[in-house]
Amino acid sequence: MSLLSVIIPAYNEEKNIVLAAARLSEVLSSAGITYELLFVDDGSRDRTYALICEEAQKNPCVRGVSFSRNFGKEAAIFAGLREAKGDACVVTDCDMQFPPEVIPQMVDLWKQGYEVVEGKKTTRGTERASHGAFARLFYSLIGHAVGMDMQSSSDFKLLDRKVVDALNTLTERDTFFRALSFWAGFRTATVEFEVLDRANGQSKWSFRGLLKYAVNNLTSFTTAPLRLVTLIGMLLMVGTLVLGVHTLVRYFTGTAVEGFTTVILLLLLIGGSIMISLGIIGHYVARIYDEVKNRPRYLISHRTEEEDSHASDT
Ligand code: UDP
Ligand code: MG
Repeated sequence: MSLLSVIIPAYNEEKNIVLAAARLSEVLSSAGITYELLFVDDGSRDRTYALICEEAQKNPCVRGVSFSRNFGKEAAIFAGLREAKGDACVVTDCDMQFPPEVIPQMVDLWKQGYEVVEGKKTTRGTERASHGAFARLFYSLIGHAVGMDMQSSSDFKLLDRKVVDALNTLTERDTFFRALSFWAGFRTATVEFEVLDRANGQSKWSFRGLLKYAVNNLTSFTTAPLRLVTLIGMLLMVGTLVLGVHTLVRYFTGTAVEGFTTVILLLLLIGGSIMISLGIIGHYVARIYDEVKNRPRYLISHRTEEEDSHASDT
């Protein structure tokens, strides 16, 4: 009998835990799937973890771990992949934006021999127009970097144990789960689903947070910005040649006095390009620094299994 682990990152989701556990266990048990629900509490400041513990006591198929602080959704997903015991893992959201009814379809495809089942969004759900345009740009850039169309990809996917083990061998701290499953390859199928509205509460993404997320994920998949620095340099070289010849000709024909404006503009252009280039290189150096420190991606402070033993001690 194969076990399916459902990994659910949760950050300040006290309103959704009970609902998520109920919906998921209802769908999975009525489809005859042996499952475990693995909640990863990403350092929530509300009652999220307490509710996970309550669910775990009620239903032996529910487990949970809790981070010592908020480490972000990526860290929560990877903690889930590490902790999961299943022969396959499904990653889904706690806010029920990914319809649980799709999971049995994913499992069917997995049983047919597919090792990765990607959830593909047919709509992007409700989001601000600025976010939509921004997301399209980001996905076309990152899609280019991984050589796949990522436009409608999501974190909702099923991974076979083989793929989970492969992802668990990655040592990098800054991960981008959505693209890593493409990077890993394996036999892949897709299922389409419609993004629903958030069950309760609101999305925690600010525009600034999204921008940081986009820049970090892009630079963890591509070094194209570094090549851009070389390109700027080459363009400036071409300009230098043209202007250099021009200046020399004027010098030798004796008409080389004015040109103050050109000097100012050139100074600004060159200064600006150098600063931008340094910024880009600096970003990569910072990333190298972060990776080299090799700190763990997350720290687990509680596990529901241990809570049980504490309870029986007293
Ligand atoms: N999440 C998390 N850590 C965070 C932010 C979010 O574990 O720092 C979880 C959150 O609880 C939810 C999922 O990631 O289960 C998606 O978050 P959200 O709904 O806020 O994002 P959106 O659906 O708008 O992309
Ligand atoms: Mg959501």
